[in-house]
Amino acid sequence: MKNEEVFSDKLTVIPRNRHSISRKSISDSALKVLYRLSKSGHRACLVGGGVRDLLLGIHPKDFDVATDATPEEVRALFKNSRIIGRRFRLVHIRFGRDIIEVATFRAHAEDSPKTELDSNGRILRDNTFGDIEEDAIRRDFTVNALYYDIADYSLLDYAGGLDDIDRRQLRLIGDAATRYQEDPVRMLRALRFATKLDFDIEASAASAIHDNGHLLAVVPPARMFDEVIKLFHSGRAVRVFALLREFSLLKYLVPALDEWLRDDPSENLLDFIDQALVNTDTRVNSGKPVSPGFIFAVLLWPVVLQQANQIQSDRQRMIPALVQVGETVMKRQVRHISIPRRFSQMARDIWSTQPRFHRTQGKQPQRMLEFPVFRAAYDFMYIQAMVGLFPHKLGRWWTDFQADQEPSHTAEPAKRKRPRRRRPRRDGN
Ligand code: ATP
Ligand code: MG
Repeated sequence: MKNEEVFSDKLTVIPRNRHSISRKSISDSALKVLYRLSKSGHRACLVGGGVRDLLLGIHPKDFDVATDATPEEVRALFKNSRIIGRRFRLVHIRFGRDIIEVATFRAHAEDSPKTELDSNGRILRDNTFGDIEEDAIRRDFTVNALYYDIADYSLLDYAGGLDDIDRRQLRLIGDAATRYQEDPVRMLRALRFATKLDFDIEASAASAIHDNGHLLAVVPPARMFDEVIKLFHSGRAVRVFALLREFSLLKYLVPALDEWLRDDPSENLLDFIDQALVNTDTRVNSGKPVSPGFIFAVLLWPVVLQQANQIQSDRQRMIPALVQVGETVMKRQVRHISIPRRFSQMARDIWSTQPRFHRTQGKQPQRMLEFPVFRAAYDFMYIQAMVGLFPHKLGRWWTDFQADQEPSHTAEPAKRKRPRRRRPRRDGN
């Protein structure tokens, strides 16, 4: 049957000369893994985002391999490998900075007595090995379940993914609600792929998001962090944010912001979020570094600002108010998304630094340059100035002030200097 187009209920095989994937566009590391597995008598295929993206003419972010070799067998074949994962056991094979993820074919959760589910139907552990067809249908979207078989370079489609690539739509394999219940993160993945690929979310997959969004509350906060950052650092954060609102998912990610949005939000703070996300997208798309600390600082700023204004009307005393409110707001937020401390601290520092941009006299500006968070806080302030939340003139002042400084100040976080001893100021001097 190899090398011929095969159509059956379950499987379509597209031979090597009838599809667009060439070995030239697959990384050497991935090819090495595929060939070594294959030479050792195993079935080995490229699968997932790598195949999907190549078919769409997008450069894949990474390459995932699926095989019938067990994790231990894979581990034994590659010195540079280690077994990872709890929910799924996977093997990571490292080639310099490149990591190839190898997964053993697994069966669909529901069909397996070994799958552990929680009371919401969420899969807790799922390590039942299966054949390639079972492996295909336990994947999330049809377009993520295409296999490039290294044995004869054919493309295997068990779930109708090729049609959906043509239709540019994300369709879940099987019943949408069940698939979200098994793993609510798939709802966030739907939004991520829809924006990344510019695909529609097929109707039943879309409507089931509206009904099942609340299940995101049971996802472990650490996994939420990973997924949310993938969304906001995708280079399409503006669109992602709009979709999160459209699908009513924001309340499970950043509930305080969702409440603020429902409560007649001010236009310029909305513009601020938008502009900050535009800024993040521009940075991501031009290869500049971005930080989760900045994203959370942006998303929670309306809430922090509103509460700080409530407890303190005197601008001179704004810093302690922002410190205090920042702590409470962050405490609530990390119950939903566990933000590593260095990032939550960064967000709080960005907030409490904002009032200092009002001061352009004396030594204060120079000192500001030494704050590790200065660059991010400056960007944050500048975006506020763009939308009328901060005086334009001051924004420009800081831009000029920075431009006059040594480049080392902005290129890298400033080294901490010895605290400067202040000379006692004498009256009349
Ligand atoms: P990208 O790497 O571009 O983010 P991807 O589709 O490769 O996209 P990964 O998270 O790398 O996404 O996962 C690789 C593959 O594993 C997916 O294409 C999909 O087939 C499967 N997969 C990943 N996460 C899930 C999930 N939550 N449920 C079902 N299948 C999944
Ligand atoms: Mg991938």
